[in-house]
Amino acid sequence: MPEIRLENTSKLYKAEDKRDKRKYYAVRELNLSINQGEFVFLIGSSGAGKSTMLKLIGGEISPDEGTVFVDNVNIARYFGPWKARLNRTFGIVSQESRLIRKRTVMENLMVAARASGLQRKSRAAAEKALGLVGLPDVEACYPAQLSIGEARRVELARSLLSSPPILLLDELTANLDDDTIWDIIHLLNELNSRGTTIIMATHASQYVNIMRRRVITLVDGRLFGDVKNGKYGDIV
Ligand code: ADP
Ligand code: MG
Repeated sequence: MPEIRLENTSKLYKAEDKRDKRKYYAVRELNLSINQGEFVFLIGSSGAGKSTMLKLIGGEISPDEGTVFVDNVNIARYFGPWKARLNRTFGIVSQESRLIRKRTVMENLMVAARASGLQRKSRAAAEKALGLVGLPDVEACYPAQLSIGEARRVELARSLLSSPPILLLDELTANLDDDTIWDIIHLLNELNSRGTTIIMATHASQYVNIMRRRVITLVDGRLFGDVKNGKYGDIV
């Protein structure tokens, strides 16, 4: 099952000010590995590099320095049919919503299900995923008709469609009420206990402290803390 390993992995961006020709590290020389079945909270203030790290792991962006390995294969080598396999490895919920506004929830999920190769089984997979996130009744809604919490849960459902071994979740719980966050954490814990790797960028310190899982902290793009059974703010 997939192991993730970052070796001296860095990502650079141009400065936002166009007159500034320098490049800046979004993440810098990350070295860590994550085994199948781990539950990881990725924390750090805004701009620390959490989203960049998740995109590097999921192969959405490529490192400028260093390497990302999934199962000992440099993911830069995954292309063609291998790329599809990589896509099936990861269920991704990005920080910004990626729901198609002009499609209903069911249509959104069917598009995603077909893209991950489910074809004829796509409707059943979509219904099952909506049931898992506790939203069996929103199939016919358009994204704009959903609350923020419902929309995020639909995105979680979409990431679960092909039962991926690894979930990459970027601020899934931001702006949600406590009951909804708790429901989501409960579901993720359940999936994790059945073997799914969860890597979750979050500011929900209260839940991080209750769960006592691995806590990886980024500060200015660097790995600042990596603690087993950690709490929010642990840096050892
Ligand atoms: P976080 O998710 O922890 O808030 P990000 O990974 O989004 O942090 O960003 C880390 C740094 O990289 C920030 O300084 C951000 O401005 C910069 N950055 C991220 N993505 C881009 C981009 N596409 N273009 C330019 N700069 C970026
Ligand atoms: Mg982010």
